[in-house]
Amino acid sequence: MPKIDRAITIAMALHQNLMEVRRLNTNLQKALDEIKILKGVLPICCYCGEIRDNTEVEPGKGPWIRMDEYINKRTSADEKSVLGGS
Ligand SMILES: [Zn+2]
Repeated sequence: MPKIDRAITIAMALHQNLMEVRRLNTNLQKALDEIKILKGVLPICCYCGEIRDNTEVEPGKGPWIRMDEYINKRTSADEKSVLGGS
């Protein structure tokens, strides 16, 4: 194989690797965004799915609120746009 063909083949392989890394990075970023939102959402009622909101009080003393309320309250504008909200 001529040198130039070899170089092109290598460059294409490297490009493909880069694209794969970028794709994985995007997936990882999405997962991190989800973790950021779920972090602190541990106390969930297994019956009705409400969440204990301990953001402004000591753990175990917060009110139970609906999950959508909680997410809305805890999510930044940037995270909401990642989630497709307004
Ligand atoms: Zn409940």
